[in-house]
Parts: sequence; C-alpha cells; structure tokens
Amino acid sequence: MSGFLTLVLAALSSALTAYGAHRTSLSHFHVLGGIPVGAVLIGIGATLGVAMAIRFTASYDTANYRIFAQMGGMAAYAGAVLLDYAQYQLHLGGPAVATPEVLHAVNYARLLIEGGGQAIAAQMPNSVALPMPVILGVGVLRLFVEVLGVVVATGWTMSYLVDVPFCWTHHRFYQLRHIVECADMSAVREWETAIQQRRPHEARALLARVRASPVVPSDRSWIRVAVHQCSVCHAARVRIEGRRRISLGRTRTEPAQVMQFDAARGSALLAT
Ligand SMILES: [Zn+2]
Repeated sequence: MSGFLTLVLAALSSALTAYGAHRTSLSHFHVLGGIPVGAVLIGIGATLGVAMAIRFTASYDTANYRIFAQMGGMAAYAGAVLLDYAQYQLHLGGPAVATPEVLHAVNYARLLIEGGGQAIAAQMPNSVALPMPVILGVGVLRLFVEVLGVVVATGWTMSYLVDVPFCWTHHRFYQLRHIVECADMSAVREWETAIQQRRPHEARALLARVRASPVVPSDRSWIRVAVHQCSVCHAARVRIEGRRRISLGRTRTEPAQVMQFDAARGSALLAT
C-alpha cells in the first residue's frame, strides 16, 4: 500500500511539476549567481508527492525515498524539456516535419545547450567575445549544474519536509538507525531517563527491552522511537512519538519529544 501510494503521488507530482515547468519555461531559467533557480524549483515540486507519501504512511526510511524522489525530480526536468521540445516541433510545423525526428531532437538539444551558454556569455563584459566551442562547453556545464540542482533540491526538500537532520561536518543526511514501536511505556521512560543521566550501559539494556516488547493489535496506544544518526560521527536525533488507534483502523501519531545528541553522546548511548 505505502509503495503504491508513493508511486502514485511521486508520479503525480513529477508530472504536474513537468507541466508547470513547461508552461512557465522553468527549464530555461538561467543560472542566477551559480544557483539553477528553475531546476531547484522543479526539484522542490517533484519531491512534494514523495514527502506527502512519507507523511501519510509515517515512514522513516527516508534514504530510499530520497533516491526515489531524486529520480522523480530528474524525470520532471526531462519531462519539462520534452514538453518544450514537443511545442518547439509544433512551431516548426510544415515542411520541417519531413526531416527525421532524431534531427529535431539533436537540433533542439544543441539549441538548449547553446541557449544556456549564450545566456552566460551575455553576462560577460562586451569586450569579451567567446568562440562557439566555449559557449557550447559553458552550455553543457550549465545543463550539468541544472541536473545537479534538481538532485540537491530534491534531497533538501525531502529532508526539510520529513524532518531529517544533516551533519555539516560529514556532509550527509542522518540515516535511520532505529525505529522501534513499543507498548511498554515504562521501559521507554526508563530508557529516556538513563539517556538523560548518561548511563550508557543501562540505556543499551533498556533499548533492548524496548525492542523486545512489540505492539500487539489489542494495544490502544503505544510509543514510537525513531533514531536518526550520522553514519560517520554518530551524532543523533531521537524522536519519541505517542501513537494511538483511532476509528476505522487508523492510527494517530503525536510528536512527544525530540532529543539531540552530539557525536560523543550519540556514539556512547546509541551505537548498539
Ligand atoms: Zn557526522
């Protein structure tokens, strides 16, 4: 169910973004101060569906979703370019249709790259006249920056929307280390206390106890502990949420507490 929902929402947001980007010529937005504004907007748009799916399903395994969202972002960018191309071909109309389509595509790709290069060349002082190969090279570089912009924007949008921290020292998003659902509230509370009082051995033993009491269908409410951690330095963020069953087999999640650990505390308390 969650996989299907993700697929549908991701496809929808990518398609809508591609269409919106085509209508507003976002893929032709030029690089402003090194930032590919149009591509970043496309990446943000394409991520919304995946982020919604994560929110709906209350999933935490964002690393795989992120890759998925990045593919969605690139698909949206390619889609916008293809729609632009389709319109360009419609404009050509008449006799041009007689030539093979491949030539149009190659021609269009060249136009796209050249257009990008020209836009950057136009920002140079008037006295500098760039030769065509340099302009094409700059155009290819711009295309690369745009695709990179899509990928980076999807990653960040996703982490912002589903609240995954970033380790600035090691330049990576935290990974999901533990996701535990536990009906034994007292074990969770004792674990929290052990962590607050920095008793690592007990904290580890208690975490094992927390993991050993899973939620059964008769439980009305329970606790979910999600631990996200930098894979290098083990700095961590622990989120404790209360969950309870409401009508029609649905479950409501309420954020209860967030704890942030630096590298030393994270590896002492949570490296199990
Ligand atoms: Zn780190």
